[in-house]
Amino acid sequence: MGIAVAFANQKGGVGKTTCCVNLAASLVVLNQKILLLDLDPQGNATVGSGVDKNAVDFSMNELLLGQCSIDDALIYQTPGGYDLIPSNSDLTSAEIGLLKLEDKENVLFKLLEPIKEQYDFILLDCPPALNTLTLNALVASDKVIIPMQCEYFALEGLTDLLGTIGQIKSTVNSRLDILGIIRTMYDGRNRLAQEVSSQLIEHFGNKVFQTVVPRNVRLAEAPSYGLPVYLYEKTSRGSTAYLTLSNEMLRKCSILQSDTDDKSKEGADSNKTETKQMEAMVDSWL
Ligand code: ATP
Ligand code: MG
Repeated sequence: MGIAVAFANQKGGVGKTTCCVNLAASLVVLNQKILLLDLDPQGNATVGSGVDKNAVDFSMNELLLGQCSIDDALIYQTPGGYDLIPSNSDLTSAEIGLLKLEDKENVLFKLLEPIKEQYDFILLDCPPALNTLTLNALVASDKVIIPMQCEYFALEGLTDLLGTIGQIKSTVNSRLDILGIIRTMYDGRNRLAQEVSSQLIEHFGNKVFQTVVPRNVRLAEAPSYGLPVYLYEKTSRGSTAYLTLSNEMLRKCSILQSDTDDKSKEGADSNKTETKQMEAMVDSWL
């Protein structure tokens, strides 16, 4: 059964899409079968995957509104080797359309259930907002990855995000677990970045991915060629970082899986406490 992982942070421009596209391609290199869902009307993950967002017949919008099937919307084998459900500005209609539905937070979950077993991972690129689309992503996911830039203001939205994750976990989706925080666009020469990074490790411990994504111009250039950085410039620091990160992600998932198998009830309780502790810590920094 595939693991659905949402990339969420309501702060804009922190590297959600870059993480999603490049982890998708790097996981393919590690023989994983991947589906990427673009849940952002900006359609950046779609463009970054080499697909013309305005030329698709069906997209996430029609899918969420029940106007097409998954098969209609699926684009098989993008250049990065993963499948994609694209999105474009039409998706704002779905966001509004969903609001009218009684069961609005479960629409994506229900759509994904039948196809989860066809993939090792389903990666969900969320928009920079805690809106109905992000809510659907979190309800449909097993794990959340939080990409973060190591700067002071980056911490501000974290309390709200952790609160939302906690609420979803205790109400509609008890499977939801924070897989980790990824430090993106990291510049080790910057003192504030170093300080925020050590605070993150101090407070979130092994929830922080050890692998750091450095600021690397190739990562910023690759989307304009519709390619993941691995195919754009294989030897770049960005490419190496994402390959390392995908390895770490696989390790983290198998560790989490065996933990849950052994003591699922205990695990669920400690996760709830963990989320609460994280929220309190972030509050104390602000
Ligand atoms: P949004 O909230 O708008 O969806 P996002 O969180 O998805 O944004 P990205 O689009 O991934 O963030 O990244 C924001 C910008 O930073 C993009 O132009 C991207 O190419 C660039 N970028 C991301 N990661 C890096 C990096 N490690 N080094 C250099 N540039 C980067
Ligand atoms: Mg994005």
